[in-house]
Amino acid sequence: MPAVTQDALSRIRRAVSKSEIEGLVKDLVKIPSHRDVQTKERAVAEFLQEFLEDEGIEAKLRTVEKDRPNVIARIEGGGGGKSLMLNGHTDTVPAYDMDIPPFTPKVQGGKLYGRGSLDMKGGLGAMAMALVALRRSRIRLGGDVILAAVVDEEDKSAGTEDIILNGPRADAAIVGEPTDLEIQPTHRGLEWLNVHFYGKAAHGGQADRGVNAISMAARFVREVEGDLLPKLRARKSRYMMSPTLNLGVIEGGQQPSSVADHCVIRMDRRWVPEEKLQTVFEEIYGIFDRLKAEDPKFRAKLVRDPSNMKTMTHVPNVVPTDHWMVRTLRGSMKTVTGRPAKVTSFWGWTDAALLTHFGKMPAVVFGPGGAGAHARVEYVLTEDLARCAQVYALTAAEACGAEKSR
Ligand SMILES: [Zn+2]
Repeated sequence: MPAVTQDALSRIRRAVSKSEIEGLVKDLVKIPSHRDVQTKERAVAEFLQEFLEDEGIEAKLRTVEKDRPNVIARIEGGGGGKSLMLNGHTDTVPAYDMDIPPFTPKVQGGKLYGRGSLDMKGGLGAMAMALVALRRSRIRLGGDVILAAVVDEEDKSAGTEDIILNGPRADAAIVGEPTDLEIQPTHRGLEWLNVHFYGKAAHGGQADRGVNAISMAARFVREVEGDLLPKLRARKSRYMMSPTLNLGVIEGGQQPSSVADHCVIRMDRRWVPEEKLQTVFEEIYGIFDRLKAEDPKFRAKLVRDPSNMKTMTHVPNVVPTDHWMVRTLRGSMKTVTGRPAKVTSFWGWTDAALLTHFGKMPAVVFGPGGAGAHARVEYVLTEDLARCAQVYALTAAEACGAEKSR
């Protein structure tokens, strides 16, 4: 590897210790920042801003919605190099019924436990520490390195929408969701779809006088499982895993002795770039048409779930694997770990898609390993936190044009 790269890495490693990175992630986990917290992400955003400012890094809060500020921190480059955004969300899902203390982080056997440790205060902490490492080591940058710590990713991605609409901008971005240190430049799009079935109420003792919406839903499910799901599984994408549909929620009826006049099924549909959003809807309408041909009383309506997004469709993310951002990340991973990185596709949906598609900032997902995002036991691997911080910092140094030290 070039001597300048080796030199940058040694300086980054000297600048921040593993225990410091771990400490910051613990501090972030300690501050609840989920949708049921009264002040939402405000406390964690203010904490992060103060932490960065104490390191001499410019960090500003920009309010997206009440009590929901994005943190935008920046190390300004001297000009000439590419700019890079490190993007991570400050919100988590609620604790629900966790089997561990959610907000009293504990480190055991190389794992840091707590709500949000993996999704994604681990990646976020590593990103903040990458800025600290760049700052302390006085690695000279040409372009800006920006940290965007955004709100609301677990709901409507209002934080990243605000970044896209109001800046800042960068030439490319890394989103620090957990990827087990794999470089993931692609993932599927996500639609939440509600299908409403309309029947006619009647007494259960005279059920023939009614039209049962639950029965309609059952026929719909049969069509989805028998016809649509096999088609989706067979549909291969050249960029990512096959599309899917998950039947997530079903609700209908009032009580056992009434014919249900309404039923709703809520679904999660992951779509690939080879499909069009219109195809996703048309396939559902196709099922409606078939069921209506079988039974003229069949009545259903398809609605995009309004809680899924703000204004920007949750499109698939596609960054070419030969993009300079992917190449730079690969180089940094090799330098930091000594092993070549895997380039794969992320299984979930992330803000990277909005940055790439609507923000015209090609965004690649790369973050630490662990397990239990949104689950009862969540942890991030502490070893990966340090590796990620080093990879983020080195990638910034390389991409933004590290020059000789001051
Ligand atoms: Zn996440």
